[in-house]
Amino acid sequence: MRILFVEALYKSTEPMSIMLLSSLAKQKGHKTFLHVLTSGGLELVLREIRPDIVAYSAMTGDHRYFIEANKTVKEYGKNIFTIMGGRHPTFFPEILKSSNLDAICVGEGDDAWPELLDVLERGGKIEDVENIVTADNLDSYALRPRRADLDDLPILDYDLCYKNTPLGNSLKRTIMTSRGCPYSCAYCFNHIYNKMYRGKGPVVARQSVSRVIGETKHMIANWRTKFIKFYDDDFVLKLDDWLYEFSKRWPKEIGLPFHCLLRADVASREPEILALLKKAGVQSVSMSVESGNDYIRNQLFNRKMSKDELRKAFKSAGDLGICTFSNTILGVPISETEEKKFCLAGSLERDIESVDFNLEIRATMTEYPILFPYPRTAIGEYCKKNGFFAGDYNTFTASYQNKSPMGCFSDREKMVQQNLALLGTVLQSFAGSRNLLARKLASLLRFLAVKVLIKLPLGKIYLLFYVMALNYLHRAKLYNYDKFNFWNWFKAIPGSYRFNLEKQFEKTIR
Ligand code: SF4
Repeated sequence: MRILFVEALYKSTEPMSIMLLSSLAKQKGHKTFLHVLTSGGLELVLREIRPDIVAYSAMTGDHRYFIEANKTVKEYGKNIFTIMGGRHPTFFPEILKSSNLDAICVGEGDDAWPELLDVLERGGKIEDVENIVTADNLDSYALRPRRADLDDLPILDYDLCYKNTPLGNSLKRTIMTSRGCPYSCAYCFNHIYNKMYRGKGPVVARQSVSRVIGETKHMIANWRTKFIKFYDDDFVLKLDDWLYEFSKRWPKEIGLPFHCLLRADVASREPEILALLKKAGVQSVSMSVESGNDYIRNQLFNRKMSKDELRKAFKSAGDLGICTFSNTILGVPISETEEKKFCLAGSLERDIESVDFNLEIRATMTEYPILFPYPRTAIGEYCKKNGFFAGDYNTFTASYQNKSPMGCFSDREKMVQQNLALLGTVLQSFAGSRNLLARKLASLLRFLAVKVLIKLPLGKIYLLFYVMALNYLHRAKLYNYDKFNFWNWFKAIPGSYRFNLEKQFEKTIR
C-alpha cells in the first residue's frame, strides 16, 4: 500500500513518531511518503502519490490543520483510509465525532500500526485491533500494554524526514532513547498517560546503551552529524548502571557533543550525574524551572522542586562548564480565592518573578512558553473549573510560544505576556554571559523591559531581538559544535525570523 504521512508545519525537531511508523510500514513492504501542509499543494501531492492511507500525528493545536486537510483528502478520494495518532486523539478521542477521520490511534501505536496495515490490506475488523478507535468502538476500545522492550523496534526512517524537510541540512540531529516519565507535573500529559495505562506495562522503558550507540552510528554513517540532541523527557532519572555504561562508551564509540533533558532536583540530589554527563561529552542540559513562583511551581504545577534545588543544580552545571537551558511557563492564571488566601501577587508580577529567578540562577538560555491547558491535564481541568478556559481546543495554536488561549486574560494582558516572553530570552542572553559587563547591562535592560518595553505593541520587533539572541545562544553555547561564525549567524536571522513569526504569531484558523 502507499502511505502518505502528513505534518502540519516545518518544525525544529524531527517527527520521530512518523519516522518510526514509516519504518514499521516499510518492514511490511509498503511505500511511504511525507508532506508538510504549510508547503502547500496537498491536492497535487495526492494526485501524484495516489495514497491508500493518509496518516497524521497530532498535538493539540496542529490537529486543526489536519482536520482541514482531511476534508481535502476525502474530497479527492473518499476511499482513502485516514487515521490520526499522537497526543491529541489520545486525550481527546471525541475528535472522531467532529471530523471525517476514519480512525484514531490511542496511546502507543507501534504494535497497533503494523496490525492495522494487515487488516486494511487483507481484510478484517479494524475495531479488533487494540488501540485503534473508530466511531463504532469509541466507548469500548481496548488498549494493549505499553512496550517494555524498545530495542526490537526498527531504526527510524531518517530518510523520510531528512530527504523531505530542511532538517536534512542540519548538523544537529535528534534521538530518543526512552519513553515515559514517572512524575506528575500538572501541565504535562504524562500523569494522564500513566493513569490511562495503569497496570499495563512499565511507566518508563529505555533502549540499551548498545542500541542507542548502534542507531547513532547508523545515522552518522548516512547523514552528516556534528551534534546529538537527546529528546527524552528525562534522559537521566537516577544514577544507575545505564548512565555509567553510557558515560564510558559514548565518548569512545561516538564522541559527539550532546544535549539532554533532566530534572534539576535529580541533578542537585546526585551531583555525580552531571559529572558523568560531562565525562560523556555533554555540551548543554535542559532543566526546566517552569515557574519562579513557589506556589505556581509546587502547588499548581506539582513540580515538587525547591528554589534551592534549582539554584544548586544550575550552579553545579555552570561550575562544570555545562551550558543550561531553563524552560519557564508564563501566563498562569490563579483563582481570586487562592490569590487572597495565599497572599499571591498578580499574574504579571508572578511572571516577572519567574524572569527574575532565571536571571538570578544565570541559566545560559531561557525560553518562556505561555500556559496552554492541554486536554485532560490537571492544569487543563483547573483552568476549565475556574472558568479561565472554555474548553474549545480549536482556539489552540500549533505552538505554545504564542498568545494565551485563556479567556480570563484581556488582549492587552496577552500582549504583555508575549512581550515578556520574547524579551525575557533576550535578557537571559546577557545575564547568562560570562562577561561581567554584559551581566551588568542585564540589570539595566531588565528595568527598561519590565517598566516600559513589555507594555508597548512592538512584539514583532522584539521577535527580531529574540531571534538574534536565540540563534547566538544555540550556535555559540547550547549546540556549539563549530566555532561561532558571525557571518553564518547573521545569514540565519531572516529565515529564523520568518520561522518564528509563523510559529509565535500564527493566527488560529477559527
Ligand atoms: S518531569 Fe517533565 S516529562 Fe515528566 S511529567 Fe514533569 S514535565 Fe512531564
